[in-house]
Amino acid sequence: MTKPAAAPHVYLDHNATSPLRPEAAAAMAEAGSVGANSSSIHGPGRAANQIMTRAREALAKLIGAAPDQVVFMSGGTEANNLALRGLGNIDCLMISAIEHPSIWQTAPQTGLPVIKLPVDSDGVIKLDVLAAELEKASLAGKRALVSVMLANNETGVLQPVAQVVELAKKYDAYVHTDAVQSLGKIPVGFETLGVDLMSLSAHKIGGPQGVGALIVASGIALQTQITGGGQELGRRGGTENLPGIAGFGAAARVVLADHGFSEAGKVAALRENMETRLTDQIPELVILSQNVPRLPNTSALALPGRQAETLVIQCDLEGLAISAGAACSSGKVSRSHVVEAMGVGNDIANATVRVSLGWNSNQNDIDRFVETYTHIASRTDRRVSVA
Ligand code: PLP
Repeated sequence: MTKPAAAPHVYLDHNATSPLRPEAAAAMAEAGSVGANSSSIHGPGRAANQIMTRAREALAKLIGAAPDQVVFMSGGTEANNLALRGLGNIDCLMISAIEHPSIWQTAPQTGLPVIKLPVDSDGVIKLDVLAAELEKASLAGKRALVSVMLANNETGVLQPVAQVVELAKKYDAYVHTDAVQSLGKIPVGFETLGVDLMSLSAHKIGGPQGVGALIVASGIALQTQITGGGQELGRRGGTENLPGIAGFGAAARVVLADHGFSEAGKVAALRENMETRLTDQIPELVILSQNVPRLPNTSALALPGRQAETLVIQCDLEGLAISAGAACSSGKVSRSHVVEAMGVGNDIANATVRVSLGWNSNQNDIDRFVETYTHIASRTDRRVSVA
């Protein structure tokens, strides 16, 4: 006798990966069937090139950049690597304490001095510290690259990147922003922000995994990290991932067509409903950074005194896919550097889980999550054994 199929998980982990949109899947299949190299000059090659051009134009339009400023690559991680490693004429890096590991683990490898920019208890970068560091560097005749993300992946907290740019320009510093989590959730304007470099990733907007882009302001010369056939105007060698780029472009077109950000509005209403009900039902619940501007889809929820990893496993057993704020590697649990940087106590830092909604989230998902999480929060048996 076959076992009845388990109910599908309620997927509330869009900040890890947002499931592939059908439009992206269709575009990928179409691009995959072309079977030619976009650099080839024959007809099929030109057809491949046309698909890539369309994707480049859609992404550029979505973020208010020019198509030739878009450098396609393998994802947000590679974009962050090129941003930090590719500028030749800088003397130091200034990086917010809450950046993604692809920034934090790359920065020391550049060989440049790295200055850590602290955040306040809500997880917002301290602009006065940045101003002082920029002034100090400038007086010492040093030029900085400042890297501050547009929104944090764990808490959703928006960072004052426009003000960062304003300060940086006073001291002739460069600015990079990791906009991987912001794209599709809030309006993202490359020219409007005035940054020099911006990282993006397809799989956070319902495009495929393994494709992303670095947006490079005109006049910025980047030393490519991958030498090869001169693709992407010499900024990233290697035959482009045509199906991936086509999927990225299709996902960008879906977001672009939603002028009023109605999808994000729907997601924001669902999150509001979730947070209100959870707060009513779980008095001890702490919602991090609830009173500062956040992405509309992200909630960092802490049950003081509990273990985030255990909560994630308990949720998984109940059919809910969420994440721990903390990272787990080699069987060891390490606390989230983001929550730690906010200076909250251990009881909260160890107990924070991330719930992130997205394009296919609905009221049923929220009802199931609220009901199950409330039940888990009320359990006195707080342990779970994992084989
Ligand atoms: N930057 C941020 C803020 C992210 O959240 C992520 C992925 O989680 C990345 C960069 C890396 O992107 P990718 O998975 O495309 O390498």
